[in-house]
Amino acid sequence: MIIKKDFDIIQNYFEDNSGVIGAHAEFAAVAESEEDIPPFLTEMAEKKIPVTIAGALTGNTASGLSFGGAVLSLERLNAIGNVRIIDDKTAEITVQAGARVQDIKDKSYAEGWMYPPDPTEKNAAIGGNIATNASGGRGFKFGVTRDYVKGLKVIFTDGSSARVERGKYFADNEGKIYFDTDRGKKEIILPKYYLPSIKNAAGYYNYPNADLIDVFIGSDGTLCVTVEAVLKLIPHFKEVFGGIIFFDSRQKAYDFVNKVKDIAKNRQKDSVDPMSLEYFDKNALLLIGNDYPVIPENVEAGIMFEQDIYEDNFDILMEKWVEVIESSGVDTEKVWFASNMKEQEEFRIFRHRIPERVNEKVKKNKIPKVGTDFAVPEGKLSEIVDFCDKEFEAAGLFNLTFGHIGENHLHANIIASNQEEYKKTRDMYARIAQKAVELGGTVSAEHGIGKLKHIFLEKMVGKEGFAEMAKFKKSIDNANILGLDNIFPKQYLE
Ligand SMILES: Cc1cc2nc3c(=O)[nH]c(=O)nc-3n(C[C@H](O)[C@H](O)[C@H](O)COP(=O)(O)OP(=O)(O)OC[C@H]3O[C@@H](n4cnc5c(N)ncnc54)[C@H](O)[C@@H]3O)c2cc1C
Repeated sequence: MIIKKDFDIIQNYFEDNSGVIGAHAEFAAVAESEEDIPPFLTEMAEKKIPVTIAGALTGNTASGLSFGGAVLSLERLNAIGNVRIIDDKTAEITVQAGARVQDIKDKSYAEGWMYPPDPTEKNAAIGGNIATNASGGRGFKFGVTRDYVKGLKVIFTDGSSARVERGKYFADNEGKIYFDTDRGKKEIILPKYYLPSIKNAAGYYNYPNADLIDVFIGSDGTLCVTVEAVLKLIPHFKEVFGGIIFFDSRQKAYDFVNKVKDIAKNRQKDSVDPMSLEYFDKNALLLIGNDYPVIPENVEAGIMFEQDIYEDNFDILMEKWVEVIESSGVDTEKVWFASNMKEQEEFRIFRHRIPERVNEKVKKNKIPKVGTDFAVPEGKLSEIVDFCDKEFEAAGLFNLTFGHIGENHLHANIIASNQEEYKKTRDMYARIAQKAVELGGTVSAEHGIGKLKHIFLEKMVGKEGFAEMAKFKKSIDNANILGLDNIFPKQYLE
């Protein structure tokens, strides 16, 4: 284990994408091998020194930032194994937790396979993606990180470790799970509260008869250190066809999306069946308008779609998409199409440019970003967007919304330029979170709760839910040192 204490060196661990300032630690411990971690954790546990696991620190909720104690970094544990083919539809790859998501994707692609989860930020470490159950634009067809994690090797703060394979350990009807570690059996009892059955990254996974691996995925660095993962791969598409459509009314954009979803639900060959359906509101488009003259002046909303192509049916698919686009009253001459992977890469840069621009503003203002991550059940999206509109109008603060409309999951970003505005945006966010919950949704569908969103999670699970979480965490991290203040307020551990 390399121990770093010099502030100038360790300050790199004190900033992530949340805009939160003031993170600090006594030292950073950089693991040189997996074997370094059990003795380190047992020592920290004995001395009661809090440990925060840092991935690549691209997180949005300050969950990888430490406030005292030690930082544990797995940046050197970044090996990526070879692709192992199982049959013509599946393969797998074993990776260490510090491996960069882009490198995993590249290695898989070089052999004709795809690691489908596609969060916009590819510099994240896979350990961070697993801890936050990250997802991205292609979730509409391919789902989230959880869907591609077949196995994990995890280390607990008592120094024990476990290999957890999907399908091996399940919760019984009381929520109890027994599993093997290298030091004997462990028993845990899942916390009790209600979580909606939609895309969700808020709170510990506690669905009935949960698979243990799903409980560790999304646990935001609070239960164990992931050191290794076995990931599922699927055949990579041969080509991709996509488009960005600019609408002069938001309703037209919604109608288009509903039409596409209606066709795509049948998942038919030679038919409209996108892997991503992304939304951009007027302010999001105007923010990058100078970089992209293709965006028309009277724009009110934009939709980006990408369809994966596996056979020689490009022309048929193009025809089908043109039909849907034209039937939505859009002139196809004004649509920005991409007809191969190279052109489609431009779309990804376009998509990435929005959070990048937002982050530039946030960094300049030195006030944390307030960005929603809600998802609502089918049919409820326009209700919550209208609600947000009213809130934004009343507050008069700079805002923009973009995100995964295919899954009714949007990021409304409100940018404060001083502390007073920040307080106002937090209050507004709380009302939006409340509305999402009232509509049967979640306050976080992909970024997790971290240290910043406790009050929003409370709207879903209540104080009783937090108490359940604390009891559950303590039963695994007996020393109570890992990822403190992530997911629920640390006061509940006292
Ligand atoms: C421009 C931009 C775009 C983004 N787009 C997306 C997006 O589309 N979808 C999305 O989901 N997120 C997105 N994010 C957020 C971020 O990339 C994800 O949350 C990512 O999963 C964080 O990974 P990380 O390695 O940076 O983890 P960190 O930020 O370092 O840590 C996040 C959490 O993971 C825990 N952790 C890290 N490694 C381990 C480990 N080995 N074992 C146990 N716990 C661990 C940490 O303790 C912490 O709780 C974006 C961020 C940026 C900057």
